[in-house]
Amino acid sequence: MTAVYGGIEAGGTKWVSAIGTGPEDIKETVIFPTGEPEETIARAVDFFVRNGPVAAVGVGSFGPIDIRHESATWGHITTTPKPGWGDIDIASALRAALEVPIALDTDVNAAALAEHRWGIAQGLDTFFYVTVGTGIGGGGMANGELLHGLMHPEFGHIRIPHDRERDPFDGICPYHGDCLEGLASGEAIRARWGSSARPGSDERVWELEAEYLASGLANLICTLSPQRIVLGGGVMNEPRLLPSVREKVRTLLAGYIRAPELDGDLNDYLTAPALGDRAGVLGSLELARRVL
Ligand code: ZN
Repeated sequence: MTAVYGGIEAGGTKWVSAIGTGPEDIKETVIFPTGEPEETIARAVDFFVRNGPVAAVGVGSFGPIDIRHESATWGHITTTPKPGWGDIDIASALRAALEVPIALDTDVNAAALAEHRWGIAQGLDTFFYVTVGTGIGGGGMANGELLHGLMHPEFGHIRIPHDRERDPFDGICPYHGDCLEGLASGEAIRARWGSSARPGSDERVWELEAEYLASGLANLICTLSPQRIVLGGGVMNEPRLLPSVREKVRTLLAGYIRAPELDGDLNDYLTAPALGDRAGVLGSLELARRVL
């Protein structure tokens, strides 16, 4: 009998849990809002107990999280600004309750893994997945391995040029103020523009947003040399954003990096996810498969 896995996309606003083996084989799924840690973890445990058994559970979590296996605090969410969730040990709580192996990575590394196994990043060995939603995150693979190292990438917190005369907004990151997430996340858009940040609204909203994202992506391209960048998250649902980002990235790179992938309109280089908003939870299932 083929093993069945559990996956959790543990987001800052909602948890998506699923049982199955891949995009064509999801047996059960449940979505609930992220509440207090104990209650939220208990709801996920209850879902797996009622609909299982599962052979292993993978978690793609909001972060930062400790994923160093040699660390005493492996499996903990660490310095998150999310109230109540700092230093919470997700992995041990799940392992104690379910008594199966637990795999843990960032939500964006999980999404990247799913796009690599089933989606738009199949066959690539170095690529990046960026999500622009309430926050901004990035994960990916280098030479066929998920990007770890010191801990994991924190792409949302890179620094980008900020012209305060044009955009006097201080930024919303509690750690850095005007890092990329501080200036260009969904929360930053809402804080800066209020209700004008809707599709069909003021052109300036999306012009500035595209500029900030393009700066971040140009830095990423020069640093990691990804073969493709996948752009997901709720903010990217604005239809005029991705074409504008592509154009600005081309301008910023200024023809310096010569690669066929960067010729032309970048339509295949800066792309939407193939798995849409299912990438995170599908990647969690793949994390579970890989831990066994
Ligand atoms: Zn920051």
